[in-house]
Amino acid sequence: MNRRGAALVLLTSFFLAPLNCRKASGTPQDPLEPEAEEALVEYLRIDTTNPPGNETAGAAFLQKKLVAAGVPAQLVGSDPKRQAVYARLASGSPEKALLLLSHIDVVPADPSAWRNPPFEGKREGGYIWGRGALDMKSFAIAELMAVLDLKRRGAKLRRDVVFLATPDEERGGLDGVKKLLDTRPELFANVGFVLNEGGSNETAVDKILFWGIEVQQKVPLWLRVTSESQGGHGAAGGESATSKLIRALAAIDAIETPYRLTEVVARTAAAGAAARKDGRGAKLRLLREPLDIAKIEKELPPGYRALLRDTITITTLSAGSVVNVVPSRATAEIDIRLLPGSTTGEMLERVRAAVGKNGKVEVMLAGEATPESPASGELYDSLTRVLKAAAPGAPLAPVVTPATTDSRFFRARGITAYGIAPFKVNYYDADSVHGADERIRSRFFAEGVQVMRKVVRDFCERR
Ligand SMILES: [Zn+2]
Repeated sequence: MNRRGAALVLLTSFFLAPLNCRKASGTPQDPLEPEAEEALVEYLRIDTTNPPGNETAGAAFLQKKLVAAGVPAQLVGSDPKRQAVYARLASGSPEKALLLLSHIDVVPADPSAWRNPPFEGKREGGYIWGRGALDMKSFAIAELMAVLDLKRRGAKLRRDVVFLATPDEERGGLDGVKKLLDTRPELFANVGFVLNEGGSNETAVDKILFWGIEVQQKVPLWLRVTSESQGGHGAAGGESATSKLIRALAAIDAIETPYRLTEVVARTAAAGAAARKDGRGAKLRLLREPLDIAKIEKELPPGYRALLRDTITITTLSAGSVVNVVPSRATAEIDIRLLPGSTTGEMLERVRAAVGKNGKVEVMLAGEATPESPASGELYDSLTRVLKAAAPGAPLAPVVTPATTDSRFFRARGITAYGIAPFKVNYYDADSVHGADERIRSRFFAEGVQVMRKVVRDFCERR
């Protein structure tokens, strides 16, 4: 997913915290913990960098784990190199099924920027290192362990539990979940609920201060702008495609995207602010009507401001090859994220008008507007119960994220999908998502594996 976790460290608690909390608190070790950690390390060693993905190796690994426990699991998908893995624990019940979703692919990693090689699954300093350690191979293993737990205990189920790990999420998911939903609807028969990445928590040292259940996302609109000109010798001074592109991009940069407060952001901020007397509480209190624009601009970091407006970010540029040749073609890509209520069609028109004769605008990806998943109901109640028990006193609220995940394809079909963040993550580790040195604390991983298992038991097992 394209987001960085929000987290906060309380320095005072940091210095008081015992160094080895598990031993200090005497919490018994989860019997599944060594198995889960081994599985994560093994999974991290499979290079599923997208592009190209090569997710089949990851899918086959997960399939092997499921089959070894007696869960029939199949590889699905039309591209032999980019398979998904699918398994269903049948309940015989007509209750809506729960689908445990993850993506197999990871974003590229430049080994020269890493302290440990990104695909070695190294354990060092209390951490498990590797591309995908947070996004999202750890989550997949937690889901896998939840399924294995139900199977091994011969649990009586109230509803089917579906396990699905897919390719292509990091490049938009069209060749992953979207294609499966379109071409293999039988796999999703009676699925009413999805648990996926995308939620958040705020971890101070080793305590959760806030749980965010993601119920809605901003809608992505990715555009490519291409400018063309005659080209020729640089000394002739003709109009260059690069100059035209610069004019187009300057006009795009000038598009105004006013601040506005959506209902879900207001709710999240109110829940967070009510529980906080510190600086973060003060920031959250800026997310309410009437919006104090001057203060928002001055005091809120970009991640918060992105929850209050559509964002337009020019990301890639490509033009020219040598200094004395006028390029005939120049391109740029623009990453736009729209708040609920804004439409891709309207924004596209505004960009086209801004670009005018300086270039043509092509749509790379236009997300669908999707209904918000309800911040109530049986699964939301399960999450509330289990997460509150895991972190007594921490408030929980529905959140909207600026990022995009595969949950949107399910929401578009009226299926309730929640993004959750079962693992504690300190802010300095959260920054490694999509960056160098991606890692997860072994202890936080083990705790999150338990949280996921409890959620699945709570929601799916007969009482
Ligand atoms: Zn992800």
